[in-house]
Amino acid sequence: MGKNKPAKETTFTMNEVETQRAKDFCNRHRHHTVHMTAGEAFEFTFMPSMIGDVVSVRCLSCGEREDVTDLDKF
Ligand SMILES: [Zn+2]
Repeated sequence: MGKNKPAKETTFTMNEVETQRAKDFCNRHRHHTVHMTAGEAFEFTFMPSMIGDVVSVRCLSCGEREDVTDLDKF
């Protein structure tokens, strides 16, 4: 058995506050993404920075983007 890495590896994590903000964002956009799966409807972007990971979520249906980074974690 070799070392098989999963094709897509997520090294970024979201804390409780960020997860909740992302959920709220998704809920606000659910009305026009109801026919899509969460993976199709929303795009999460993780940007490593000197002080921590900056997390943003974008609605692929209307294009709105929101920074859900919990600044208190820095
Ligand atoms: Zn939207």
